[in-house]
Order: sequence, then structure tokens, then C-alpha cells
Amino acid sequence: MAVIGWIGLGNMGGPMTANLVKAGHEVRGFDLNPAALDAAAAAGVKPVASIGEAVEGADVVFTMLPKGEHAQAVYLGEGGVLASAQTSTLLVDSSTIDIESARKLHEAAAGAGFRFVDAPVSGGISGAAAGTLTFMIGGEAGAVADASRYIEPMAGNIIPTGAATTGQAAKICNNMMLFINLAATAEGAVLAERLGLDKKVFWDIASVSSGDSWALRTWYPVAGIVPTAAANNNFAPTFTAELANKDINLAMSAGRETDTPLEIASHVQQLFQRLIDDGLGAKDCSAIVKLVDGTVDELR
Ligand code: NAD
Repeated sequence: MAVIGWIGLGNMGGPMTANLVKAGHEVRGFDLNPAALDAAAAAGVKPVASIGEAVEGADVVFTMLPKGEHAQAVYLGEGGVLASAQTSTLLVDSSTIDIESARKLHEAAAGAGFRFVDAPVSGGISGAAAGTLTFMIGGEAGAVADASRYIEPMAGNIIPTGAATTGQAAKICNNMMLFINLAATAEGAVLAERLGLDKKVFWDIASVSSGDSWALRTWYPVAGIVPTAAANNNFAPTFTAELANKDINLAMSAGRETDTPLEIASHVQQLFQRLIDDGLGAKDCSAIVKLVDGTVDELR
């Protein structure tokens, strides 16, 4: 049994910590949001009132935070992880953040004598709940191997990616492809219905044909087809439009830095931006289907 400090108990951190508790670990969790803390406590996480309490005496600390700015605040801020943890504690950031922030965290952690890996995940909240996430882990090989042992109860796949920040690089490229697939699925779903196809018949075909994708099988944006889809719950978030926009913007800025034209990603980013501008950034990202079928007003 290990002692695990965990910061960020939201849509992903909540079910991920539940799997660590089930595996027999002691998990001390901290979140700024009291409702997230209560939900984690109900799943067996020990709720604590500060980062300092979460990391004290921990074998490993995980962070699962929205963006680079939050991760920087949690690691580098006053009373943050680097100021509070013992240097023997392994640090694992599983948030999806920009490469520049990830580099800063690697450098600051190493400078303070810590081992740190970037270990973002793919698989959504359904994968988090099932313990089948894919982890992509960048950093020094020994630290990656040690992190993998703690990650195991949460993961279906654990893939070392190489040097520091390459986990984030893999995640950014993967999510760009996911959101392009999601937009294509939304357009296909609406067009199929308008051509008179039964929604289930079309899904049955596409899911075993060349139109298949993870987005289609997990986030199909039409109610009553896929149990894990936010469409079943009026687009209550499993992955917010705000976070999807963050991720696709990470790809766009990486594209600019590497002189890579990302024309389709740029178009999909505008769809998320339209939801956000409509005040719907906290809805699920699959709500972009409402821009295709023209019923976005129903979500307000
Ligand atoms: P979320 O917004 O549901 O959860 C983030 C949590 O962090 C919130 O509960 C928030 O209160 C907490 N937090 C923010 N700042 C904090 C601070 N300073 N101290 C303590 N807690 C703080 O987000 P999520 O959906 O769980 O996503 C977390 C990360 O995982 C993001 O980077 C996201 O891109 C990535 N991700 C999400 C999914 C998904 O399907 N939701 C899938 C893969 C990766």
C-alpha cells in the first residue's frame, strides 16, 4: 500500500482516485471545490484542506488540473507541491497542459531535487471510471518506470514517450485528432438523420465501417445510442467545451511553433469558440452537434 497525494478531484480526478482507493492505497485528496472533495470522500479518498496536507509523507503525488496555469500554481506557488513535499516523493502531472508549462515544471522540479514526469491521459471519464485510461509518460526512464507502478490501477495502457514533455506532445496531437473526429461524427450524424436513416441503424453501420472512431463509439452526439454519451444528459459535461477548446488551441500553437498547417483543427477550434461565445463553454464538447442541427438555443 502506498500513500498517494492527489490534487484536482474533478471529472477525471474523482474516478481515477476511486480506483487507487479500490487497489488498497491511501489517497489524500485536495481540491478547491468542496463538492469535488465531498464526492471523492464518498469514494474513500481522505479529504484534506491544503496542498501541504495532501503531499506530506506521500510516496507519490498526482495532479489532475485544468490548464498549465493551474498546474504551475499548484507546483510552484507559495505552499505548493515543490515547497511542501519531501524530495523523495515522486511527482506525476496527469493534466493536459501546454509544453512550455510542462517544461517549466520539469525544470523547477529537477532544480528543487524532485523526480517529475508528465503523464497525461486519454480515455475520458468512462475510461477513468473503468480504470482503462491510456497514460503517455515523458521523463527520465527510472522515474517513468516508478510512476507506472502507481498508475497501474487506473490504466489500460501505459506508454513511455521519451524525454521530458513528450507525454504532453503525444496528448496534444491525439486530442487534436479526437476533436476533428468528433466534429466529423457530429456532421455525419445530423446528415444521416436528415437523409432518413434511423439513428441506430446508421451508428451500427458506421461503428463497423470506415467512419468509425473513438468519438463515435464513446461520445456519439445523439441521445439514446451510446451509454457514455453526454447527449443522453442534455450535454452535461464529461469533457467541457472549454477544455476541448484549450486542447485544440494547444495543438494550434504547437502548429505555429513548428510551421505545420493545421487547417482542419483551426476550423474545429472555431466551433468550440462559438459554443463558448454563446455562454455554453461549461457544456460537453459534443454539443457542437447543436451547431450542425441548428438547435443550440435549446441548451441555454
Ligand atoms: P475538471 O475541471 O472537472 O477538474 C479539475 C479540478 O481541478 C476541479 O475540481 C478544480 O476545482 C480543481 N482545481 C483547479 N485549480 C486547483 C487548485 N489550484 N488546487 C486544487 N484544485 C484545483 O477537469 P477534468 O475534466 O477532470 O480534466 C482535468 C485534466 O484532464 C484537464 O487538463 C483535461 O484536459 C484532462 N483530461 C480530461 C478528460 C475528460 O474527459 N474530462 C480526458 C482526458 C484528459
